[in-house]
Amino acid sequence: MKNSEAAKVLYDIADLLEMQGVDFKPQAYRKAARSVEELSEDVAEIHRKGGKEGLKQIAGIGEGIAEKLDELLGTGKLKYYDELKKKFPAHISELMEVPGLGPKRIKLLHEKLGIKSLGDLEKAAKSHRIASLPGLGEKAEEDLLKGIGLVKKGKERMLLGLALPIARELESRLGSLKFVSRAVVAGSLRRRQETVGDLDILVVSYKPKEVMDFFTSMKDVQRILAKGETKSSVLLRSGLQVDVRVVEEKSFGAALQYFSGDIQHNVKLREIAIRKDFKLNEYGLFARKGSKYIAGKTEEEVYKALGMDCPEPEIRADRGEIEAAARHKLPKLIGYGSIKGDLHAHTTKSDGADGLDEMVSAAKKMGYEYIAITDHSVSERIASGLKEEDMEKWLKEIREFAKKTNGIRVLAGSEVSIKASGELDYSDDILKKMDIVVASVHSRFKSSRDEMTRRIVNALGSKYIDILGHPTGRLISRREPYEADMKAVIKAAVDNNICLEINSQPDRLDLKDTHVREAKEMGAKFVINTDAHSAAGLNYMELGIATARRGWLGEKDVVSTLPLEELPKYFRKIRV
Ligand SMILES: [Zn+2]
Ligand SMILES: [Zn+2]
Repeated sequence: MKNSEAAKVLYDIADLLEMQGVDFKPQAYRKAARSVEELSEDVAEIHRKGGKEGLKQIAGIGEGIAEKLDELLGTGKLKYYDELKKKFPAHISELMEVPGLGPKRIKLLHEKLGIKSLGDLEKAAKSHRIASLPGLGEKAEEDLLKGIGLVKKGKERMLLGLALPIARELESRLGSLKFVSRAVVAGSLRRRQETVGDLDILVVSYKPKEVMDFFTSMKDVQRILAKGETKSSVLLRSGLQVDVRVVEEKSFGAALQYFSGDIQHNVKLREIAIRKDFKLNEYGLFARKGSKYIAGKTEEEVYKALGMDCPEPEIRADRGEIEAAARHKLPKLIGYGSIKGDLHAHTTKSDGADGLDEMVSAAKKMGYEYIAITDHSVSERIASGLKEEDMEKWLKEIREFAKKTNGIRVLAGSEVSIKASGELDYSDDILKKMDIVVASVHSRFKSSRDEMTRRIVNALGSKYIDILGHPTGRLISRREPYEADMKAVIKAAVDNNICLEINSQPDRLDLKDTHVREAKEMGAKFVINTDAHSAAGLNYMELGIATARRGWLGEKDVVSTLPLEELPKYFRKIRV
């Protein structure tokens, strides 16, 4: 059983308990689900080696949940879960994904209209049976239909953060076969798009038939969609479609270029080839007359023959990179290893699954020079936000801990909510004592564009804010960004010397690439944070860096590439 599958069961249990009106337990199940989801090891492996006791070593998992997981991983089934499901709609988790639907409403829809699935819900909304239910109405019905659309769209594509480990595993599995010299994932994954439709893998091998046999008989294949001599497609159990093509060595670069896309980029490149009297396709670059092979072994060789430098895959989108490549003026993008610290992380003090100690040692292991601990502020009740006096104590504790810690600087801060009024959730008195203040919107997402813009711009006027957290509030394929004039927000951040966050949570990636690029042009500075809620969550950093690269950022644009000594230039409250 995969981590994501085990986590899904725990999330479902949380929802089912919430529908029964049970207190506290749902939160515990959610916390456990999240930490299973973020584990870098296989939970099944932990269970195989250490049984129930092993499971209890995982952050956020106590005796009760360990027992349930023990049964689930041991037998593939969980009686408790099956019993809960009997009382409620069978497809509760897909219903829970619809924005605006919570356990209470699902229960109502189930009892009054017999709605059990997304399909049922859509039918009911389209035939206007929902508007007449208590607490709902025409507007709610309309919103639900929009939400259903979002969920459906999301199902067709997988988050980059989920697809990336699967892609890497396949690359190494295929690449380690002795008759394979290379295996590389191309397509939208290689461009690090925020969601991925399917995986395209290119393989160089002198035994294509053996590659096809191996690929189609892997144990995580659910269905073979097509099997040919050099190309096959399968559907994995994870729901991801994967295509594998065996190509010749001399065509590898051309094929990699071709299958990496994006389409707009490739269309333009082919036009340039034609203008230069070439023909460009997945097999190589050829002379137009006589079809003599010119290049194709590497991508660089193909671009070079066209008079261009080779743009990094992340920026291939026909947004000016082709022109820059032709002028030999491509941007030098921020490297995947260049971040020196994470400035947004939670602990068990608010809604994290790991304690201060675990978070800090994980950050140290990543080679960071600093990490900021930024637990939630008072109005975040669901996320166990801290009252001002408790935060005061917590800051002291962090500082005491920091004194005893070598090899990494622990910064004491908070993720402070921006209230609907545009005021911050804490007084200036405590804010000025923090090394780092991340300010974020966590409530009232539906305000008008003007209200939301005023709210954020107003907050950015505070002297004590360092970073604007997840600036648009979107959750990929679950929640649209809140309406705000992003130009005005970015300008206010620039004017007040406040960094914009690129949040690396797989379903946030907020700011997104296009906003990042716009903000850079307006003179903004950035930080890339994980917003980790467990030690394993710190590993999401690469997703944020990918977003920064897609937004054309270089190392200089990102403040957290600086060593500790230079941080006070941007964050005035930090003393080094
Ligand atoms: Zn937040
Ligand atoms: Zn956070």
